Amino acid sequence: MAGFPIEDGFPAERLFKERYSYTYDDVIFLPHYIDFPADSVQLATKLTRNLNLSIPCVASPMDTVTESSMAVAMAALGGIGIVHSNNTSSEQASLVRHAKSHRIPFVSDPIFMSPSDSIDSADDFASSPFILVTESGTRKSKLLGVVTKSDWEALNGKEAKVCDYMLKSPVTVPSSYDFEQVATFLAAKKLEFVPLVSEKDGEVVDVVTAADVERIRGFPAALGLPSLGADGKFMVGAAIGTRETDKERLEHLVKAGANVVVLDSSQGNSSYQIEMIKYVKKTYPELDVIGGNVVTMDQARNLIQAGVDGLRVGMGSGSICTTQEVCAVGRGQATAVYKVSSIAGQSGVPVIADGGISNSGHIVKALVLGASTVMMGSFLAGSNEAPGAYEYQGGLRIKKYRGMGSLEAMTKGSDVRYLGDKAKLKIAQGVVGAVADKGSVLKFIPYTMQAVKQGLQDLGSSSLQSAHDLLGSGVLRLEVRTGAAQVEGGVHGLVSYEKKYF
Ligand code: NAD
Ligand code: IMP
Repeated sequence: MAGFPIEDGFPAERLFKERYSYTYDDVIFLPHYIDFPADSVQLATKLTRNLNLSIPCVASPMDTVTESSMAVAMAALGGIGIVHSNNTSSEQASLVRHAKSHRIPFVSDPIFMSPSDSIDSADDFASSPFILVTESGTRKSKLLGVVTKSDWEALNGKEAKVCDYMLKSPVTVPSSYDFEQVATFLAAKKLEFVPLVSEKDGEVVDVVTAADVERIRGFPAALGLPSLGADGKFMVGAAIGTRETDKERLEHLVKAGANVVVLDSSQGNSSYQIEMIKYVKKTYPELDVIGGNVVTMDQARNLIQAGVDGLRVGMGSGSICTTQEVCAVGRGQATAVYKVSSIAGQSGVPVIADGGISNSGHIVKALVLGASTVMMGSFLAGSNEAPGAYEYQGGLRIKKYRGMGSLEAMTKGSDVRYLGDKAKLKIAQGVVGAVADKGSVLKFIPYTMQAVKQGLQDLGSSSLQSAHDLLGSGVLRLEVRTGAAQVEGGVHGLVSYEKKYF
């Protein structure tokens, strides 16, 4: 048998030459040969030509997915968050600035009051056992004092102004402290909490409690180094559009320190986007720009020629998306990622597989088919770090998750695409929905990455580059799964079961 050529499964090139559009669930990889442990698999990758990440994870620029908290957590894990643009340019810049002012992996939401305010009832402490008193009563002014719930409870005249009984000049630490420095400080001083204050203007950047420290210590260790920009701060991306007004938005974002911009469009192969790519590269040559979305080699070639540093791939693949239904345009995501990656790879442009990720297997498929990172919406939207509060629906704890092309997101008011277009008919390409509570990304992303490492190990790939090489050389083989094979590949034939991944 030795040396006898065995033809089994299909090389990707042949499989994707067929006339079908395949998505992740349609295809399956055949296992290869293992000669290294799963823990030694390297997930380090490129987001763009010039930006590196420790893990291949990107949080989507959607207003129910990525604001400061998500951007901070993703950067702390070694990925990146792209702050959405469904707001004014100064609001978006402030979200970027806020995320970049952090050195710890989470963002708290403290309560602020001004010195002349009084505390009406114990309900004022419902979400936090302490209140921070600042000059203006907002985050954006100097910290003057702190009132704890027990201080207020011990008070005789409860209607007194907070300045009359607050603890003045509370102990603080500089906002440049990292997690370990803050944890050590809290333990050494036996404090329950400490505000982190900007050295520049004395504003409160965050508050860390002893309970937060314990919670973070309970999470699995991150798998790689945090994503830091050349400025030494967390790496944060931001979305912009392709209108004239987006040039001003871009200026705000650059001033806020955004490390990369994503031109956020469902169909990126347009004169508007090509002009914007050229504008960004000419005006800010140091700033990497990600173009998209594209799903064909021809679209990709146009944006590469215009100068993109990264390509976002996916049209109609998102969980909240109705584009294929409404416009009859798009492509199965497995085919789209393979086709675009095969041309982008020739120019050294990394590909982001955007949309349709609902489990670690989909991430493995996207990465092996040629992507360097995956962009996720629904996978992250139920986390603590996603914007919005948890609600209950039929006894289930959920968070709202909506498409950026849903009527609700489009009519949010700040959206310039539609503010200027009041006379035009709005057509939605997305829905408003909800996703289940998933806890913190700081917990479930490390487990998900461990599962991805196991998938790559089964394929004999010790890194993303080695997976791309093995696929390109035809060593890795795939097949299309029939409907029955897909049923067999999932849990089946049981009366009941509970799915727990970790
Ligand atoms: P878009 O801003 O790219 O396009 C909206 C409309 O404006 C399009 O008709 C476009 O051609 C036009 N336009 C753009 N720049 C213009 C300019 N300079 N002058 C004149 N017209 C211009 O946004 P979109 O494609 O509607 O996407 C909106 C949001 O929804 C984004 O967040 C996007 O990611 C999301 N979305 C994604 C998908 C997907 O499949 N990936 C599908 C639908 C929506
Ligand atoms: P998900 O990870 O499957 O939930 O898909 C997220 C992706 O869907 C985003 O990154 C966008 O590319 C895309 N998307 C966002 N909003 C919309 C929409 O309203 N319609 C269609 N696609 C959308």
